[in-house]
Amino acid sequence: MLRLSDRLEGLSSSLTLDMTARANALKKKGIEIVNFAAGEPDFPTPPFIRQATVRALEEGFTRYTPSTGIPELKEAIVDKFKRDNQISYTPSQIVVSCGAKHSLYNLLQVLCNKGDEVLFGSPYWVSYPELVRLAGGIPVMAPTEANHSFRLTRKEIERHWTPKTKVLILNSPANPTGSVYDKKELEEIADLALLRNLFVISDEIYEKLIFDGKKHYAIASFGKEIMERTATVNGVSKAYAMTGFRIGYCGAPLEIAEAVGKLQSHSTSNPTSLSQKAALAALTGDQSDVTQMAREFEKRRDRLYNGLKDLQGLKPIRPEGAFYIFCDVSSFGLSSSELANRFLDEARVATIPGEGFGMEGYLRFSFATSQEKIDEGLRNIAQWVKQFDRH
Ligand code: PMP
Ligand code: GLU
Repeated sequence: MLRLSDRLEGLSSSLTLDMTARANALKKKGIEIVNFAAGEPDFPTPPFIRQATVRALEEGFTRYTPSTGIPELKEAIVDKFKRDNQISYTPSQIVVSCGAKHSLYNLLQVLCNKGDEVLFGSPYWVSYPELVRLAGGIPVMAPTEANHSFRLTRKEIERHWTPKTKVLILNSPANPTGSVYDKKELEEIADLALLRNLFVISDEIYEKLIFDGKKHYAIASFGKEIMERTATVNGVSKAYAMTGFRIGYCGAPLEIAEAVGKLQSHSTSNPTSLSQKAALAALTGDQSDVTQMAREFEKRRDRLYNGLKDLQGLKPIRPEGAFYIFCDVSSFGLSSSELANRFLDEARVATIPGEGFGMEGYLRFSFATSQEKIDEGLRNIAQWVKQFDRH
């Protein structure tokens, strides 16, 4: 039998994507389910972005582009980093890739040698450990506390640091917990990164989805020194409801950006030409759709959080960003996969088991679904909980 590469050994497919596919397959069969599993906005991509894509197609913008992205998009990204994050990159420090996931993949490939440790907080986004392993690195998960909204502290990083620690991944607002770091916490982490010579990958894909008037801080904006040790990752998937376009990007020190560019030139060649035009329209166009979507997400957050809080046995952690609620369900005495399966089969509600994020006893609920659907899902769970109690 053909033997697969050692690299692939033990690699699992993305649980979040698998669960979403399962929920969609049930829906296709005509089974009414409430999808709290989705990791993407349910809003349509704003019309002006779609129109820009169609225009690009009709104008025949259908050839290879420069590997790291078209110059006008890279300029727009430079402007975005300046305007929103107070970071001054030059266009040569920007690489546009096929989604933020691809930016992360590329960065880890150019940064990690075999055995290098890459540290991040747990619970974590499903893909971090696998992306690190694929790069030959060793994922090191530092546990975080529910009563500190699962934010990684300088102390916890220090506790898990070893001389082999090379990279620190930060994610604010975070998936799956919705936690948002404040300025002071990030400054403390930046200090430590400099002290310990760590390279920081800051995943800021949920930057625009932030609630309660909180502000997003980019760690690379804290000074020249930390900027020189940070790659800032972002993209258009979440903010502009453009997950299928597959455009993400990073701003990084020149040497790293050039290495990422070289790697990309031998893999995808370039991100899709039409998607780049779409991303250009998104970043340079009217931003009111983004604000409106964020406002609607905040209303849904309140509805789902308050609803879950009132259900017996469920203890949701209130998120301040992204579109997920991480919820303690340990009181049911089932594994998170068992509970997610029973919710799906018996309550017709799709969620993601916490074990995929390194946290047994929790489920992730996405509120990228309408307020009506949220109410329906809450009713279904309430009924299930009532029956469960009778067993
Ligand atoms: N980082 C985090 C934390 C995410 O949740 C996602 C969502 N898929 C990504 C990165 C990647 O986003 P995309 O590849 O769609 O740009
Ligand atoms: N990031 C989203 C999620 O966590 C989308 C799926 C994925 O890319 O893993 O559900």
